[in-house]
Formats: sequence, structure tokens, C-alpha cells
Amino acid sequence: MSIDIRQDLVSAAHVMVVGCGALGNEVLKNLVLMGVTHIVAVDFDIVEMGNLTRSVLFTRSDAERKRTKVEVVAERVRDMNPNIDIQTVCGDIAYDVGLGLIRQMDVVIGCVDSRWARFCINRYCMRAGIPWVDGGIDGLEGTVRVFAPGKNCYACNLGPEGLKDLARRMPCSGIIRRQEQRGAAPTTSIIASIIGAIEVQEGLKIMHNEECIMHNKMHNEECIMHNKMYNEECIMHNKMYNEECIMHNKMYNEECIMHNNKREMTTLCGKMMYYDGEHVTVRIADFQAYDEECPEHETWAPVRQTEVSRDMTVAKALALLRQGDKETGRQGDRKTGRQEVQNIAICLTNDCFVDYVVRRDTDERIAVMVPGRMVADKVALEKALDGQPLSGLYQHEYHRVDASFPYPSLTLAQLGIPQQDIVRVNVDGEDYYLELSHGGTRNDTEEEIDTE
Ligand SMILES: [Zn+2]
Repeated sequence: MSIDIRQDLVSAAHVMVVGCGALGNEVLKNLVLMGVTHIVAVDFDIVEMGNLTRSVLFTRSDAERKRTKVEVVAERVRDMNPNIDIQTVCGDIAYDVGLGLIRQMDVVIGCVDSRWARFCINRYCMRAGIPWVDGGIDGLEGTVRVFAPGKNCYACNLGPEGLKDLARRMPCSGIIRRQEQRGAAPTTSIIASIIGAIEVQEGLKIMHNEECIMHNKMHNEECIMHNKMYNEECIMHNKMYNEECIMHNKMYNEECIMHNNKREMTTLCGKMMYYDGEHVTVRIADFQAYDEECPEHETWAPVRQTEVSRDMTVAKALALLRQGDKETGRQGDRKTGRQEVQNIAICLTNDCFVDYVVRRDTDERIAVMVPGRMVADKVALEKALDGQPLSGLYQHEYHRVDASFPYPSLTLAQLGIPQQDIVRVNVDGEDYYLELSHGGTRNDTEEEIDTE
């Protein structure tokens, strides 16, 4: 029995791995072994001693030297295959990864441990029109889900509890929020191996798209499912021969990958695989809610290239955008004969910009001049606020930047816009999506950005 992996498709695919902890390590290892050569790794953490028992790519020396996780994984995957093209972003998926980079991917594989990070991956993948695979591990349990724009959505599948929790994490709306401290989830290398492997398996299916690899040769006598396993000693018929058994429940029907002749790939898209290592059970549940009203489904298209770059000042960027047609490709002007763009605004969609905070008790203003995500850290260092709790402060924020913005000499980078981002620009009430030119400044920790 063989499974036809199309090596040409696999080695041409671009894969982003978000999170380089235990799960991310396993996913990266499997991607490289399967022949994936274009990888982007995203993580903001450094390697710690506690990571070593479950992370195949990290060593004691990495932890002692406090190296960043992305730096280490890039080095290790190049050791495995010197031809690997790996870019790294040492940052937070919520704020530091440009949509222009995500848009180049064929699949994004999430190896994160928070609802907020998943929500952000989902939002950006929806905007970019890219499918993504989510994995989660906890103790001996793990889950894998696959989301695809137009089919299912992480946000739509969150219950009221999840949405309430997310509302607490949303940046801005006047309230200063602290970055969530990441707790070390008790987990093992075993569950990371299992869930990381399934994530890569699902990622490979996405790379093959419509070309099914699973249904070709498996529906025959050699199929493990039809051969010798149907006997009393089989682990599947022992104690598990009941309604809950995954093998007898939903899989023995037309949808079962093993019993039909459908050539399209059977994937976990719209489903959740739940693995329980303690009782050795696997369950597949539907996970396909897709609410037409969900605000997270916004696809950012068409995307146009702009000469505006991240290291430009607001004044210069707005002047360039004011040229209208050239930058936004706007068609309406010629028809209406309208010469001048009236209102042009760069929308800050992922985070706001905060110029000052106000003490609620004294109305005293204290300048901060940072993106919303950095305000809590900034005020913690502020002597004038000595001991003032965040709840005693209000932040004054900007969600869009136009001609009335009082700090036109700030750069887009200083407003918090990441490298290789796509910005939403509103011109006289109409939205345009512009990919920033790559001439912007780079983080020191970033690898060479592929500008093909
Ligand atoms: Zn949704």
C-alpha cells in the first residue's frame, strides 16, 4: 500500500507555523521530514529549561543562552535540510505579522495555547483567504481542527463563554489591558507528537487541494480496515464495540474515507478531532458553524501594491495616498470627473494608537505615544502614576489616521503597523486594501524577507 504524496506540491508549498513550543517543534520537524521547504516560523518567546522535556528541537544550551525560539528552530531545521527556506518573525501573531506575508502562504498551522491567538490567526487567515489548521494540547488530551474561509470559522464556533473571554482580550475601547501572561500548560512530548503529526497530515491535504491522495489505492483487500483486524483480539472490538466507538459510529457510512470512492480529500475541515490519550479514544465532532453575519469573515480583496512603506511618516503616506488613482486604483474619479480626494484615512485595524492616558481621579494627562498593546508596560514605568491601578486610568486612542491626526511626523511603524502588512485605507467612504512596499525597517531578529 502506498500513499501518493506529490513531492512537487509539497516542496512548492509555503507554510506558516504560529507558535514554536512543544507542538510547533513537532510540526516543524514533520514538515521538514515530509519535504516542505518554504516555512515561516512565528513566536515571541525565548527557550526556557521547562521546554526541554517536550521540545525536540531545543537544547539545554539554547535555554542557558536565552535564545529566541524562532532563532533556534530556524537553525535546527536548516541542520535537518540545508535547502530549507525559513523566515522567522520574533513577535506576536496578534500584532507583529504582516497580512502580506500571511497572504503568501498555502496553509497556516496554529500551535498556540490561547483563545486570543487562535482568534487572531482565524481573523488574518479569513482576510487573506488562507485555510488554517489548529492544534491544542493539554495533558494527555489534544484536538485538531481545520478552518477554511467560506466553509467554517473559529469565531463562529465559539460559544458565549468563549466570546465573553475574548471581549476581555480585545485591545482598545479606552481601557488599558495587560498582555496576558502565558502559563506553562502541563503537557508531554507524547501528546505534542500525536497532535503535531495530525496537524501536518491535514496541512499536507490542503497542499494537495483537490488531488486526493487517500482514495486511490486504499479501497482494496490490502486496506488495513478490511483485512485481518476484524477479530476478537482486535483492540477495536474488545471493549470499544459500542455506540461511542469512532470506528462503528460515524465512520461506517458514506462519509468514511475508507469506504467510498470519492476522489476528493476527506479532511478535518468543519470537524474537530479530539484525542484522549488516557482512555485511548478518538472522537470526531462537527465544527462547521459559519454564520453569514460574523464580522470575522471579511476577506481583504483586491489587494494592491502601494509605494507607501512602513518607515514613511504619516504625512508622507497620506500625501502619496492622496494621489488617489495611482495608489488605490480607484476607478470612480474619472467617471464622475471628481478631481480631488476629500477624505483619506489609514485604518488601524489590529491595534489602536494611544497618545496619552488620563487619571480618572485627577484628570491629569500623561503622554505615552505607543500602540495600545504597549500602554500597560509603559505606564508601569511611569513615576507620576506611582501605584495607580490600570482601572484608574483611561487611554485616549486613535483607530484611524487622517489629515487631522496631530502627530504627522510619526512613522507607520511607530503606530504599530508590522512589516509586510496590508493596510485598509478609506477613501471618501470606500475601503481599499494596500500592501505596503517592503522597504520598511526590519526587526533585528527577522531573517531575510523573501520579496519575490
Ligand atoms: Zn465566523
